[in-house]
Amino acid sequence: MTSESAETTGANRRTFLKTATAAAAVPAAAVLVGGVADTAAAADTPSSGLPDYAPVPSGAVGPALNAEGYYVGQIKGNLYWITDAYYQAMFLTTREGVVLVDAPPTTGHNLLRAIEQVTRANGKPSKVTHLVYSHNHADHIGAASLFGKDVVRIAHTEARRLLRIDNDPNRPEPNVVFDDRYTLHVGGERLELAYHGPNHSPDNIFIYAPDYATLMLVDVLFPGWAPFKGLAASSDIPAWIKAHDIALDYPWQTLVGGHLGRLGVRDDATLQKQYMADLLASTRAAEADVDPTPFYEKYGPSGNSWAIFKAYLDAVAEAAAAPVVSKYISLLGAADVFTFDNATALIESLRIDFGELGPFGIRP
Ligand SMILES: [Zn+2]
Repeated sequence: MTSESAETTGANRRTFLKTATAAAAVPAAAVLVGGVADTAAAADTPSSGLPDYAPVPSGAVGPALNAEGYYVGQIKGNLYWITDAYYQAMFLTTREGVVLVDAPPTTGHNLLRAIEQVTRANGKPSKVTHLVYSHNHADHIGAASLFGKDVVRIAHTEARRLLRIDNDPNRPEPNVVFDDRYTLHVGGERLELAYHGPNHSPDNIFIYAPDYATLMLVDVLFPGWAPFKGLAASSDIPAWIKAHDIALDYPWQTLVGGHLGRLGVRDDATLQKQYMADLLASTRAAEADVDPTPFYEKYGPSGNSWAIFKAYLDAVAEAAAAPVVSKYISLLGAADVFTFDNATALIESLRIDFGELGPFGIRP
């Protein structure tokens, strides 16, 4: 990267974060005043040509952010969480130092400010001595480098393998790894880390705080919201779907999902399971209903095989998404934003993982 493009990228990034903080403050304000601010803001916004989406249900939105662009709160006892309305991290304060789980770059230095704020108030040391990686993805641990070389970094063995390949200075490889289970004891506090196989990523782990009935599981459950684009861009979608049940097998009362502005309760997990069950049923129905003939007739003569796939699969995804969007638009944030992409990901998984190939199956 040339220095010129590096500067441009830096400027764009600063602009994004500044805008991001302002945007995040809007829904929080709208909740406080019962949606009046929302209407006023919409009336003042000049037309951008960008698509409009349904309002986010007030139940999806978390607490208001401070002027620095973050919110930090106590979950229970010595366990805390921090959000910037896009990403979340969790930390335990102990008499020997702080155990931090994940270091999202969008929160960045606000992680240090939040930890300083909490430990100043509760009298515990503010130094982060242990950093747990939920998984290797840069959007969740890409600020790990802020915690120095001496911090104990704990992750799944597969995370170390993947991070060695990525070789990203902002994501130093873990110096403690485990295969199945690892109980982390620090200063009288504990976290139980467990690997239940690949799901969202090959190395995504379940982080359980038994003393506080809190589970952190990232990029699987999205409390109050439709799952992120393409079922959270998950590498193993059948296993990602199964991870919903593995999560519910833990006796948690509070969930840290790694995204957006609020914590989760068990009803959020049940609702997302229902969303997925509905999307699966609706996808199978759409595959049965959408006739592939017009797609072959339109694109076949010119020999554009990819256009046949693209147009047919998009038509199935649209048909699959429509009833799910209608049902969930008032129940989940952004059901109209990502359900088409989620249907697309599910169709592809049904094709390649489950062998449900529709018109592209064994030729008669
Ligand atoms: Zn991820």
